[in-house]
Amino acid sequence: MSVKKISDFLYLTDLKPAGFPNFIASYTVLGDKIAIVEAGPTSTVKNLLNGLDEIGVKKSDVSFIAISHIHLDHGGGVGTLMRHLPNAELIVHPRGAPHLVNPEKLWSQSKQVLGRVAELYEAPVAVPPERILPASDGMTLDLGKGMELEIVETLGHASHHLSYFERNDRTLFPGDAAGIYLNQFDVIMPTTPPPFYLETTLASIDTLEKKVSRFLCYTHFGVAANATEKLERHAAQLRLWAEVVANGLQEGKTLEAIIENICQRDPAMRTVSYYIRTHPIIGRGMLRQNVQGFAGYIQRQQK
Ligand SMILES: [Zn+2]
Repeated sequence: MSVKKISDFLYLTDLKPAGFPNFIASYTVLGDKIAIVEAGPTSTVKNLLNGLDEIGVKKSDVSFIAISHIHLDHGGGVGTLMRHLPNAELIVHPRGAPHLVNPEKLWSQSKQVLGRVAELYEAPVAVPPERILPASDGMTLDLGKGMELEIVETLGHASHHLSYFERNDRTLFPGDAAGIYLNQFDVIMPTTPPPFYLETTLASIDTLEKKVSRFLCYTHFGVAANATEKLERHAAQLRLWAEVVANGLQEGKTLEAIIENICQRDPAMRTVSYYIRTHPIIGRGMLRQNVQGFAGYIQRQQK
């Protein structure tokens, strides 16, 4: 089973890229209108559509697809998905939208950065521009039955990142703005690839904290309670990483040595170090990119 009922208004679908569970979630929000939060990559569109069948949602009844950002694991599949959902409009940050209308650059850059993981996600397909709703911070989508999906701009992980907050059920969909939650360990890890901006990211976490949520629905992965504690824990973790990377750079350490330091200093990373190094998608590559994001940020500070 790939679908899990969270409440009468909310379902999680485990998209299982290349068969790997517990890594990418898409959420279905049910009012009179139906919204999907996060499209996932092209390679898992079939799984998402099967999930809709399981929930009992008709394809023609989906009104909105709301994505946090255009990276392949969140928005890469949206063009393909929209071919199957004839009445759905896309919600995406205006800075991200052009890259989904013309996805060639997104695909070539993703292949460069992600390598074989990009191939596993598969190439994005173009989205018709007339089906894109221009999103702005604070805008709400009225889904009926009292359900309102609010758009919350949360820059940092990407310069075009949005989170979503459903006001009736008090459900927060942070996208990648609150880190990656490894639910089986109750551990959060940063997702801070270059170009990374620490202050912007911390300000976004602050914004999310003000939403006082009952459910925190991570794309990576799953539904968690105690949103405030988790968001604060992640903010403290980002500050710690900044300190460790800054010290490492000052001492002239290699990136590999700095990664080792982080795994020693951050108890969360100590817990999951083996798990992530051997994870088929996260792997060492993601850890390396995250530390590179911090290193770039610190080097810009020093200029
Ligand atoms: Zn992601």
